[in-house]
Amino acid sequence: MNPLAKRLGITLVLFGILLGIGHYMKEPVVPEADTLTDAPLLNPVIEVRLMSLSGNRPIPIQIAGRWKILDGARPEHPVLHPGSGGFEGNLFVDSTGPQLGPYRTNSDHVIVTTEASEALWLDTFLYPGKLHIRTEREKSGHVIRLNLSLEMPLEDYVMGVVCGEMSSMQEGVHNALCAQAIAARTYALQKRGSKRGLRDDTFDQVFLGLDYRTTQAEAAIEATRGLVMQWDNALLPAFFHANCGGGTANALEAGFSKSEVAPLQGTLEPACRTPREIWERVISAEQLDGLAQRYRIGEWLQGISTIKRDASGRLLEVRLLGNEEHEDLAGERLRAALSLPSMQLVEVEVRIDGSAIFRGHGFGHGVGMCQTGAVRISRGGSSFQDILQHYYPEAELVPLTSELRYLLPPPQ
Ligand SMILES: [Zn+2]
Repeated sequence: MNPLAKRLGITLVLFGILLGIGHYMKEPVVPEADTLTDAPLLNPVIEVRLMSLSGNRPIPIQIAGRWKILDGARPEHPVLHPGSGGFEGNLFVDSTGPQLGPYRTNSDHVIVTTEASEALWLDTFLYPGKLHIRTEREKSGHVIRLNLSLEMPLEDYVMGVVCGEMSSMQEGVHNALCAQAIAARTYALQKRGSKRGLRDDTFDQVFLGLDYRTTQAEAAIEATRGLVMQWDNALLPAFFHANCGGGTANALEAGFSKSEVAPLQGTLEPACRTPREIWERVISAEQLDGLAQRYRIGEWLQGISTIKRDASGRLLEVRLLGNEEHEDLAGERLRAALSLPSMQLVEVEVRIDGSAIFRGHGFGHGVGMCQTGAVRISRGGSSFQDILQHYYPEAELVPLTSELRYLLPPPQ
């Protein structure tokens, strides 16, 4: 059958009148200065997952100054190799364990420590902290993969995220960087208790090495040191994204929380929906039909229809129409399946070869702070507190002091 004909008559009903005028946000709660205490600020340790190594792909490592290899698999972390003054070589997967230059161990968890705080180059990145190398073995006992992660003080990690997530060299962005630092700090601590850990990419927060550090990012870290967002006696899951495309999402509706989270209700932001900022993605007929096959609703996809949009126009739920059956899907799952920038879709054009052009606004899941909007608000002269109140209304901004230790989930 002609691929276009397969999809003819079935409307890709992705237009629609945007209903509703959004949520009226409640007044935010920000502590008065005199509620802050002199208790010492906490700077707990964070571990962030970097890459995994497998096969014959080594990774270059350079260490300045004194260093050691410790056995992380044993509680007292005995020294496996005392190292010496500096190192330059490759880390690679040996079938018995990790091998760093001439140093080989069969431990399932080794820790590379350096004496200086900024002394570890991994590939082309300069990192702070300790490098953890954990092995994955197959049943025979042979090592098949090395999982690398980095352990460092929270504030060093937040620096790497601010530099990875925002362009800090632009004019007028200081308060947006401050808001980003607080969101990143809160998100990281909240995730610290999760089993899968924090990743160094957009799955969690983009984390860059110290060589990407800027004085602007340093100023934002300094201005917000230790500040986190609290809600309902816990750390807020402080999600953020690149561009909301017209409004931020409600976390519950978008599947990011199991119950209503008052600071993550979503808000309209028409300034992020301009005609000149429409993205376009071509999705092939094979990809579209692959969806039908994946969800076992037929051999080919006849169309996609809207079940539910939010107040800003974001598709929350869609129906995939296969040539045999249909499947209802959360918008975010369709976004992931087709690698679309966002679910603020405005148009889908089916082409004669059966492929389709998706057009839409925004980048990212839409929950929490919109980075584009934060920059705009910052340039308008507002404070970082104003930015956070706008995107996380009802969240309380608190310094993470020893008195608030109860907020911290234990590290895994
Ligand atoms: Zn926005």
